[in-house]
Amino acid sequence: MAGGNKGGTPGDETRATHAGNHPHANQGVINPPVYRASTILYPDVATLEQVSKDRLSRLAYGRYGTPTVSALEEAVTALEGGGRAIVLSSGLAAISATLMNLLQAGDHLLMVDTVYAPVRNVCDKTLKKFGIETTYYSPGIGADIAELIRPQTRLVYAEAPGSLTFEMQDIPAIVRAAQGAGVRVMMDNTWATPLYFKPLSHGVDIVVHAATKYISGHSDVMLGIVVCREELYRQLKLGIHALGHSASPDDCYLALRGLRTLPVRLARHQESGLALARWLKLRPEVARVMHPGLPDDPGHGIWKRDFAGASGLFGILLKPCPPAAVAAMLDGMRLFGMGASWGGYESLVLPVNPAAIRTASRWEAAGPTLRLHAGLEQIDDLIADLSDGFARLAAAQVAA
Ligand SMILES: *Cc1c(COP(=O)(O)O)cnc(C)c1O
Repeated sequence: MAGGNKGGTPGDETRATHAGNHPHANQGVINPPVYRASTILYPDVATLEQVSKDRLSRLAYGRYGTPTVSALEEAVTALEGGGRAIVLSSGLAAISATLMNLLQAGDHLLMVDTVYAPVRNVCDKTLKKFGIETTYYSPGIGADIAELIRPQTRLVYAEAPGSLTFEMQDIPAIVRAAQGAGVRVMMDNTWATPLYFKPLSHGVDIVVHAATKYISGHSDVMLGIVVCREELYRQLKLGIHALGHSASPDDCYLALRGLRTLPVRLARHQESGLALARWLKLRPEVARVMHPGLPDDPGHGIWKRDFAGASGLFGILLKPCPPAAVAAMLDGMRLFGMGASWGGYESLVLPVNPAAIRTASRWEAAGPTLRLHAGLEQIDDLIADLSDGFARLAAAQVAA
């Protein structure tokens, strides 16, 4: 776990516990109240005029956020170690609104091929419609990203490890190449959370989180967070709300409540994820485990160098088997649920098709791919569930 009290600077666990809370400004109540608001009243005409000149000079309107929203923004900023945060209604909204704000017609975007798949829609449909061109690059590109940078390139977008297949990216090398060409870098940091990777301290300019996942942590909230360098804040904050985005104060309250236990939850997700990954590696049905925390994973060196830990999401490649056998395995799971999203307290398993959502790099796999999320259940119960699942898979293959 990163952090620790060095020269009076609070460590991450301490920040996660206290950041954004101001109990004595609120009659001693520990958690920030849920301020629900659309209209905000101005006390006089002079204030009204001040707000119409500068929407960020005070509370202006519900869409720009209430003190509950600001409390979450303050807490996430403290954990990212700087910058300014903007909360909006989903992780995808955070990504699309930021891209639409930073790019304009004629601009060129470099997008990692292993990006969270719905972002490809944003690039290939929405951004394209507005005259912004996207080139997808292989996640392993590192410093060679320099060769893809054109005079029109404005942004390099990274996500590590990659959605579904968990390739690591050499963020420092990409940042060096981008900075050398005067190009900004944006990164989706949902997997590591601000606890296990701090992109801003590696030179990334804009960080996005699906706070829907680990930050909220209880599968009951949709939220997105953008954290940017101070100099980009005004433009992004005004641009994002100008597109109509906002965040529910009730959801921000829940996310903040989730954030308080993020360090202990994440440590357990890490421990269980690694335990499952090691167990799965020894199973005869498994061809490969994709988890950068395993010493023989191709991304392990980068992960160890740059990240402070691993969350509970990883992938496995099964040896070739008929779809009916995979269905027999998954249909009978007692604890592992099947569904989109992750980062909640519960374990999940999902069949995925990485080959179908990449264009710049090939995904070679003879058998089916599963994405697993290690939840907070007791580890032997999870292993027993998977073990029984493999027995069903084997039985279905014999029957076929
Ligand atoms: C889920 C996810 C998103 C999108 O977040 P939503 O809140 O579901 O819109 C973005 N990036 C990654 C890596 C995700 O897993």
